[in-house]
Amino acid sequence: MNNKIPSRYRPHYARVKALPCSVCDAPGPSDAHHIKQNQHYTIVALCKDCHQGAFNGWHGQRRMWNLKKMDETDALAVTIERLLDEQTGHPKNGKAIDF
Ligand SMILES: [Zn+2]
Ligand SMILES: [Zn+2]
Repeated sequence: MNNKIPSRYRPHYARVKALPCSVCDAPGPSDAHHIKQNQHYTIVALCKDCHQGAFNGWHGQRRMWNLKKMDETDALAVTIERLLDEQTGHPKNGKAIDF
């Protein structure tokens, strides 16, 4: 599958795959789950179990997802937040900003 990813998106895949699972927080490397086929920026970092697991996985019975009360958008938000935290030096530990 990796060979079908255009080279311009590969750095993003590498960063997402290095993250912990967005659902259960299992340490990386993770799979990159596509919310939509061929949409390379809406990919979610998932462990094998939360991804393809027959019982817990999104492509299975989604038990872990239900337990955590999460859907794909929730998991994508976790992935994006972790990517941005990496980039900006973990703003959660810093001062709150008023908008
Ligand atoms: Zn997981
Ligand atoms: Zn998937």
